[in-house]
Amino acid sequence: MTQTSANMPEDAAARRAVEPVICYPNDSLPPPDLDLYRAARAGARKIGEVRVAPRDASCFEVPAGGFFRISSVEGPQVGDLNLWHAGNLDETFFSGKTRAIHGTHVTTGERLWSCLPFLRPMATIIEDSLNWYGIDQFGGSVHDVIGTRCDPYTHHLLSGDHYHYCCHSNLSRALAGHTGRPIEEIEMQVHDVMNVFMCTGFTRDTGQYFMKASPVRPGDHIEFFAEIDLVGALSACPGGDCSTTHSSDIASCHPLLVEIFTPQAGALGDWQPAPVNGYNRAHGR
Ligand SMILES: [Zn+2]
Repeated sequence: MTQTSANMPEDAAARRAVEPVICYPNDSLPPPDLDLYRAARAGARKIGEVRVAPRDASCFEVPAGGFFRISSVEGPQVGDLNLWHAGNLDETFFSGKTRAIHGTHVTTGERLWSCLPFLRPMATIIEDSLNWYGIDQFGGSVHDVIGTRCDPYTHHLLSGDHYHYCCHSNLSRALAGHTGRPIEEIEMQVHDVMNVFMCTGFTRDTGQYFMKASPVRPGDHIEFFAEIDLVGALSACPGGDCSTTHSSDIASCHPLLVEIFTPQAGALGDWQPAPVNGYNRAHGR
C-alpha cells in the first residue's frame, strides 16, 4: 500500500476522519443456542478420531448435530481446515464471508458459513481454549479467516521451486483419498481455509499480512458443533507454529488430533440442521 501526496485533495484529512460503520452488525444475526449445544456435548460419546501427521492432511466426517474437536498434542502447530457439505462437495466453507460477518479471526459463539448460494452455518465454535488471547499489541489474533492456505502455485510463482507439502496439496491428497477421485479434479474443491491456532494480522504501516509464533500449546483445543453433515479436512501446515517460514521442510512440525463426538438421542430436542439460504435466486430476472 503506497501513499502519494501529488494528487491529495484539500479535504483529505476530513475524508480520512469519516467514522467507519460495521458492514454486518453482529446483533442482526440469529444467535446460536450455545447452551443447548454445550448441554448436548456434555453427554456426547466419542465415535472416532484422526491423528493428522505433520506436513500432511486427513479427512473426517461429522454428522449434523455432532461435534469435532481439534487439539494440539505434541507441540505448537497450525492447522488449515476445509469443510464441505457431506452430500454436496460444491458447498464449501466461505472464508471471505465468514470474515465479513465475524471479523478477521473467529472464536467461541461464531460460525463458519458456506459459500453462495447456500450461505448457511456449517459449524459453530462452542469452545476455544485460546479465547483469552484477544488482539495483541501488533494487531495479531488467533484462528484466522484471512489467509488462503499455503499452496505450491504461489510458492512456484515466488521461488520457481516445486514444493509438494503445502496445505493446498495436503488437503488435495486427503480429499482425493477420501473420495477416490483424481487429485487433478478434486483439488478444485479445496478452498480458502480457517487457519486453526494460527496467529496473524495486518501491519498497520504497510497493510501486509503477517504471521507470528502461535500461542498454542499441547492440550489447547477448539471445538465445533456441526450444523449440517460435514466432511472436513485438516492439514498440519508445513509452517509448524508459523513463527518463521512455510512452504518448506525447515519449520518444526507436529501432529494435530481431531476427535468426533455424537450426542445422546434427544439431547438436541427439536433442533434441525440449518436449511440452505432462503434467497429466492430470482436475481432481478
Ligand atoms: Zn499451510
